[in-house]
Amino acid sequence: MRNNFGIKILVTIICICGAAALPLSLPRLENGDALGEIKTILSSRFEPSETGENSEDDAWQLILVNADNPLPDGFHSELTELSDGHRIDKRVYPHLQKMFDDARQKGIRPAISSSYRTAEQQQAELDQKTEEYIRQGYSREKALETAKKWAAVPGTSEHQTGLAVDITTADASAQAADVVWKWLEKNSYKYGFIKRYPENKTDITGISNEPWHFRYVGPKAAKEIKKRGICLEEYLETPRKK
Ligand SMILES: [Zn+2]
Repeated sequence: MRNNFGIKILVTIICICGAAALPLSLPRLENGDALGEIKTILSSRFEPSETGENSEDDAWQLILVNADNPLPDGFHSELTELSDGHRIDKRVYPHLQKMFDDARQKGIRPAISSSYRTAEQQQAELDQKTEEYIRQGYSREKALETAKKWAAVPGTSEHQTGLAVDITTADASAQAADVVWKWLEKNSYKYGFIKRYPENKTDITGISNEPWHFRYVGPKAAKEIKKRGICLEEYLETPRKK
């Protein structure tokens, strides 16, 4: 059972956002790294919002990016760079920090496997996936068509917003990743994050089930999305074109 699960995870971990395969390329974000160092500074200022209150202008955190809704021209966000080179929107960083701190307090060891990507990096993800299918015998056209189900075309990946992170585990086992994902699925809304691509919403999101991909939408939207069991497209009442 354990082995089967591990194999399943390894086979399915390559995602639309291009999450790195477990456990080969996990950055080791421990308490001594960037996401741990500022814990004492931030923990008193950013408590999880059980009430769902959100006083900020929330337009930026509700941007919808998918195959039908590419990033607007000239999109720009200010990023915070972590010690291992991962980058995220600087407004999201303290919330991610707090979520990681609280997970660690529960003995859970999350780690980021992918974060902000440039358009060039996203193109590289798509190219890499296309080449994999060509090596499997697909024509270039068919390979690209298939690869797009797993790697978004540049301009249509949430990773280019700086608001999305792929989270796995600092422990090198598939079981540990599952523990992290279950904790995040249950608790991430308190910090303003949602599991962006749930298994039962793939027909709406257009993206496979990705238990590792979390998107910051702010605590108010995250709480409602969690409570209603909906996805971001449904929350924004913006259905995908068929
Ligand atoms: Zn992702």
